[in-house]
Order: sequence, then C-alpha cells, then structure tokens
Amino acid sequence: YFILLLIISTVGKTERLLNSATNLQLTEELFAVENIFDKLYNDTETLWRASKDFGNIVHEIPAMVFHPSSVDDIANLIKLSYSSTVPFRIAARGQGHSTGGQAMAHNGVVVDMAALRRERKKKGTGGISLGMSREYVDVGGEQLWIDVLNKMVENRVAPVSWTDYLYLSVGGTLSNAGISGQSFRHGPQISNVLEMDVVTGKGDLITCSKQNNSELFHAVLGGLGQFGVITRARISLHPAPTRVKWIRLLYSDFSAFTKDQERLISINGRKQNKVWDYLEGTLLMHQGPINNWRSSFFPLSDHLRIASLITKHNILYCLELCKNYDHQSQENVNKESEELLEGMGNIPGFYYEKDVSYVEFLNRVRGGELKLQSQGLWDVPHPWLNMFIPKSQIMQFNSGVFKGILFKRNITTGHVLVYPMNRSKWDDRMSASIPDEDVFYTVGFLDSSGFDNWNEFDDQNKEILKFCIDNGIKVKQYLPQHSTQEEWKNHFGANKWKVFVERKNQFDPRMILSPGQKIFNNNN
Ligand code: FAD
Repeated sequence: YFILLLIISTVGKTERLLNSATNLQLTEELFAVENIFDKLYNDTETLWRASKDFGNIVHEIPAMVFHPSSVDDIANLIKLSYSSTVPFRIAARGQGHSTGGQAMAHNGVVVDMAALRRERKKKGTGGISLGMSREYVDVGGEQLWIDVLNKMVENRVAPVSWTDYLYLSVGGTLSNAGISGQSFRHGPQISNVLEMDVVTGKGDLITCSKQNNSELFHAVLGGLGQFGVITRARISLHPAPTRVKWIRLLYSDFSAFTKDQERLISINGRKQNKVWDYLEGTLLMHQGPINNWRSSFFPLSDHLRIASLITKHNILYCLELCKNYDHQSQENVNKESEELLEGMGNIPGFYYEKDVSYVEFLNRVRGGELKLQSQGLWDVPHPWLNMFIPKSQIMQFNSGVFKGILFKRNITTGHVLVYPMNRSKWDDRMSASIPDEDVFYTVGFLDSSGFDNWNEFDDQNKEILKFCIDNGIKVKQYLPQHSTQEEWKNHFGANKWKVFVERKNQFDPRMILSPGQKIFNNNN
C-alpha cells in the first residue's frame, strides 16, 4: 500500500485519495497495470462529477474514473475486469445526460469518454472522418452530435436522423435509440448506423454490421450499454440542406391534432417532396413559472390571444413541422408546404413560421440551455419520464393523463412532447423495445424541479405509469428506468427478454458493463 502511494506521489498524483476499504482492493488491482494506472482518478471532485447526471437525483459514487486516451485503453480496462477473480463494474459515460444514474458505476470504474474526445482533438486524430464516397461518416462513440453536424455541413452532407439536443454523445444516444422529429421518416438514429466497432464485456474489439457479427450489432443498438462500449459508429449521410422552413400550428382538439399528425407521417407511396422533413408536437399549458411556450416561437403580440385560448381549453396542442431546402428552391418550398398544409384541422389563424439555417434549427435547444446555465437552472433535478404509447390508446392517454393527472396535480413545468412515428422504420432485431403497433407515439414529460420537490414529479410519473397499467395501455418506457428484473422482463416482453439475456451471456457474461441501468445487477 505504501509503495503504491509512493509511486503515486512520485508521478505527481498525490491528489488521488484512496477513499475506502472497498475501493482499496480495486485500486491495487488497477494500479498494478501499466497504462491503466496513470489514467485513473479518484480525487473527490472527479468522483463527484461521475456520480452525477442530468437527472441530478440518483448519485452513485464510483471507486475510480478512467480517462482513456485510446480504444486500446478501454479494451485493456475491460479485459482486466473480465479476468479478475472478482470483476469490477464498468460504465462508459458519454455526457452523463441520462436522468436515472444509467452512466454510473457504484464502487466500479466510470470510463469518461470525454477524455478520449479531448485526447483525439489534441492529437488532431479527430474521431470524425468522412468516408471517401461521402455516403457515410465514421464517428468515435465519444464524439458529440453537434461536432458531427458542424463537420459534416462543411462538406455539404449530414446524417438524417437527430435528437432534439445535440450535446449528447454518439455512444450514449445509440445505446437508447436517438429520436426526434425526423424519426417517422428516417427511423431513429440506430436505424441509420451501417457499422460499429465495439469493445465487448470480454475486452474484445469487434467490428460489426448487419452482415458481420450481426448479433453484436443488433444487440448494441438500443442495448443500454449492456453488451459493449461503442468506440466507432459508421453513420449514413445524405446531402445537407442549407435552410429550414419551420412551422407551428395550434389545436384545441386532440383528435384533430393526432389525426393530422398520423396523416402526415403516413409516407408510403408519397413522393419525397410531399413529405415533411420533421414532425413533432407539444402541449401548451398555463402551468410553470414562465409558461414555457411564451419564451419561444410565438410573437409577443400574439401571447395574449394564445393565453386566452389556453384559459378556455386548459390545454392546446402545438404541431411542429419542418421542410428542409436549399437556397435555390426557396420559392418552391413555400408552395410545397402550402400544398402539404391543405385540409389541416388546426385552429384557423394560429399559424406561425420561421425560416432558419439548417444548423440553427438542429441546434435549437442550445440557446435555452445556455440561458438556463447562466441562471444556474440547468443543474437542477430533472425527474423526466419518456414513454411510447400505441396509437390505438393515445386518445385514452390524453383524457386520463394530459387532461386528467397533469391537470389535477398542476405541477408540470417542463415541455411535454407528443408525436407519432412509424414502427416500420425500426428494426426489431435491435435491442430497443417499442410498442407492437404500426404507429406509436412518443410522449416525454421533461420537467425540471427544485432540490426539495422532485419527489412530487416522481409521484406524478408513477401515477402516469400506474394509469397506463391499470387501463391496459401497452406503454414502453423510452430511456427506461426499472428497478427489478421482472420489470425489465415486462419492458422487453418475454421473447425479446430471452434474446437480451442470451446476448448478455454471450457478450458480457461477467455482467461488467453499465450497471447503472440496473438490469442484471442492482448497482450495489
Ligand atoms: P450517458 O448518459 O453518458 O450514457 C447513457 C447510457 O449509455 C449509459 O448506460 C452508458 O453507460 C451508455 N453509454 C454511454 N456511452 C457509451 C458508449 N460509447 N458505448 C456504449 N454505451 C455507452 N434522447 C433522444 O433520443 N432524443 C432527444 O431529443 C433527446 N433530447 C435530450 C435533451 C436533453 C437536454 C437531454 C439531457 C437528454 C436528451 N435525450 C434525448 C436523452 C439522451 O439521448 C440520453 O440520455 C443519452 O443517453 C444521453 O447521451 P449521453 O452521451 O449523455 O449518455
């Protein structure tokens, strides 16, 4: 022990404190391995950062945080655990933008993927490289989607499927699905991956695709970090548009709102220019300190009349649509969107539009983030609930939850998202679990709370889930949070769960990876 300490201080790492007896065993094991030892940190601040996420509700303190400078480092770390008598748990942490401790490893090792990103940037090796044919880009799992976007548009190409917020890591979103308003048309991000490099739970670096090592490929996509660490993903590319026509329409009638949404996402047999490029939906309510909707899109001069409509109906539904275009076709896009809007059932006179650059549109959440950060409100607890609801049960969900539970509790302060997508754009061989209906809705309750009242939101989330169960609504959680294996089994359904377990036994048999998901171990 003293020799170890001496070594540590000799290399100027005195700040690394050995902080508990449990950690000591792990520490000795890890410090004994060259190349790993000098990339491990257990100073209080680093440990604290790795025990927090965007949710800021769950906190699990790891024994160590690992700063890899190469893919080999990650493989060596996992190999070490795999071959130990008692393996230690390992969680890749992309940006830690999960909300339930999914990227944490209680008493284990958190692999800080941001360190690899920094290292690659420093060395100029990038981590983002455009394929020769410009049909795909190879991206390190540690890279952020915003950097992928910026680099690709320089080359006038871009991926087609995004998330609403881009400061997320590629490995993090591909471990879930990566959804947004493009999903109905292009599928989630996991449907747009051609190939990956993955370090499995045995420490093997394997290249996989639909053709080669397809079992691993399908396991990892939507696999909640259970089967390996994604170190490279090959993402398909298309020509990048330069501008976006961005439209919002208001509805007071949920049935008219969903009817329009469903009609617009039914794309089979339609010409490309007859399809929107993006479709989402949100609720507008009076609740919340700043009435969320006021801060954004709608002109100040219209706030009063929108507010009085909300007072009248309690909730308005806002449909959000986009059409991408290039400078050359600006006139066409106006004509095209006019045609596409024919026969819509929105409230007449409540039509709003903007024209923005493609990058500005995709990066639209960043401005809000920076504002909240400057007010110290970005790091508050986020008791989020995200779910998929089958189309056939969305009306029932509206009456019971939007007009029932939300109205009764009157605490919702964040965005509530509601928009449909097509099951045909998902691949059921992948691990992501979705409802068994051709069209299903994503519903997201994206609340922020105070440090002392997040339980109220948690209670509301539980009530929503209970309402679904009690009423036979076949809900699937997105970014799922379950605590028992029975719940996980229900989440995947019997067949998919069987495959999930078989794949776990094949690729991570010692149950090392992503313990924070609480699927195969309860993280203690
Ligand atoms: P982390 O939280 O770091 O990790 C998530 C899980 O993935 C963990 O289990 C972790 O161990 C594992 N993991 C991380 N990196 C890797 C890797 N390289 N290989 C294997 N496993 C890995 N999601 C959407 O789909 N659409 C949205 O529009 C959307 N908007 C969001 C907006 C905000 C403001 C926030 C905070 C989140 C949003 N999300 C959205 C959710 C987000 O996609 C997930 O939380 C995602 O996991 C975050 O990525 P991350 O890099 O922070 O992952």
